[in-house]
Amino acid sequence: MISLSQAPRTSDALRTFRVRVRTFVQTEFAPHQDRWREQQFPDADAWTKAGAVGMLLSDMPVEYGGGGGTFAHEAVVVEELTRAGVPFASFIHDSVAHYILAYGSEAQKRNWLPRMARGELVAAIAMSEPGAGSDLQAITTTARRDGDQYVINGSKTFITNGWHASLICLVLKTDVKAAGPKSISLIIVEAKDLPGYRVGRPLEKVGLHAQDTCELFFDNVRVPASHLLGSAEGQGSFQIMEKMSYERLAISVAAVATAERAVALTTKYAKERRAFGKPLIDFQNTRFKLAECKTETHIARVFLDRCIERFAAGELDAFATAMAKYWLTDSECRIVDECLQLHGGYGYLAEYPIARMWTDSRVHRIYAGTNEFLKEMIASSL
Ligand SMILES: Cc1cc2nc3c(=O)[nH]c(=O)nc-3n(C[C@H](O)[C@H](O)[C@H](O)COP(=O)(O)OP(=O)(O)OC[C@H]3O[C@@H](n4cnc5c(N)ncnc54)[C@H](O)[C@@H]3O)c2cc1C
Repeated sequence: MISLSQAPRTSDALRTFRVRVRTFVQTEFAPHQDRWREQQFPDADAWTKAGAVGMLLSDMPVEYGGGGGTFAHEAVVVEELTRAGVPFASFIHDSVAHYILAYGSEAQKRNWLPRMARGELVAAIAMSEPGAGSDLQAITTTARRDGDQYVINGSKTFITNGWHASLICLVLKTDVKAAGPKSISLIIVEAKDLPGYRVGRPLEKVGLHAQDTCELFFDNVRVPASHLLGSAEGQGSFQIMEKMSYERLAISVAAVATAERAVALTTKYAKERRAFGKPLIDFQNTRFKLAECKTETHIARVFLDRCIERFAAGELDAFATAMAKYWLTDSECRIVDECLQLHGGYGYLAEYPIARMWTDSRVHRIYAGTNEFLKEMIASSL
C-alpha cells in the first residue's frame, strides 16, 4: 500500500475521502445554491455539517481535531466544491488554521483548532482595508496594549466568510512607529458578542453571490493579549509571507477544477446545440477552440498536481506558489471566456453554469495577491 505522503493524489484513502466529500456537497450544499445566492451567504449550519463530514481542517493533525491528511485532502475538498459549483470558502477557514498551527501556542491550538474542525468556529482572515489591499504596509487598523488586553480600532473590507466569522485572524499594527514590516502583527479575535465589533451587510459583487464578503468594524474592541499570534509583536508580515502560499495554492486548485468543468460542459453543449443544420462541434473553429482549451487545461493539471505533491511534502517555496496562482488563474479565465463564447447568448444567461463560472472565476486573478503583485514577487527572485 502506498502511503499518502508518497502518492498524495492516488491513494485509496484519498479516493474514499473524495467520494464522501462529493456525496455530501451534492446532497447537502448544491440543492441550496439559489437560496444561498439570494441571502448572499451560506446557511450557518453549513459549517457544522461540513465539520461533521470531515471537510474542515482535513489536513490538520488528529490531536487538534483535524483529519490527519495532507494538502492533497484540502485539494479534494476544493475540487469537489468547484465541480458542484458551490463557492464555500472552507479554504480560507483552513488557511487560518494553518496560521494557528504554525505560530500559535499549545494553549491557542487546543482552544481554537478542534472547534474550527467541527465548524463551531468559522474563520476569516482580515487584511484588506479601504485604503490598503496590495500595499499591506498601508493598513491603519491598530492594537494598543492596555494591561493584559489589546484595544483594537479600525475597519477591514472584502472579508470572505465575514458574515458568519466568529474567529478572525486580524492583521493590524501593534507599533505604528516601527518601520515597515515590523509594525504588523496578527491577533486572533473571537468575534461572537464582542462589544465594539460590527459586521456590514455582504457586499454586492459581480460573482460569488453565495459567498459572504463583508466589511468588519472594530471600535475599541478589547481582546486578551494572549490572542497575539507568535512569540512577540511585529512578526505578522513574515507570518503572512509564509502562509499565503496555502491560500494561493488552494485558489490554483479551484482554477484548474473550474477550467476542467468549463471544457466538459462546453463540449457537451457543442455536441447538443445545432446551427446551420449541424451540431456546433462540427464547425472547425469550435473543435479547434475546444482542443486548445483542453490542451491548456491538461498542462495546467499536470503543473498543479506536481505543485500539490511538492507542497504536501513541504518542498514548494513561496515563489512557486505565486507562479502557480498567477499562471493557473490567468489560464482559467482565458479558458472559461472561450467556453462562454462557444455557448453564444446562452453563455451570458445567469442560469447557465458557464456564466456563473465566468463571473465567479474572475476574482481568482485579484485576491490573495493580484496576479500583477505576484509577478513582481516572482521577478524579485530572478
Ligand atoms: C471577492 C473578494 C474576496 C476577498 N477576500 C478577502 C479576504 O478574505 N481577506 C482580505 O484581507 N482581503 C480579501 N479580498 C481583498 C483582495 O485581497 C484585494 O482586493 C487585493 O489584494 C487587491 O487589493 P485592492 O483591491 O486594494 O487593489 P489595489 O492594491 O489598489 O490594486 C489595484 C491595481 O493596481 C495593481 N497593483 C497594486 N500594487 C501593485 C504592484 N506592486 N505592482 C503591480 N501592480 C500593482 C493591482 O494589481 C491592481 O490591478 C477579497 C477581494 C474580493 C474581491
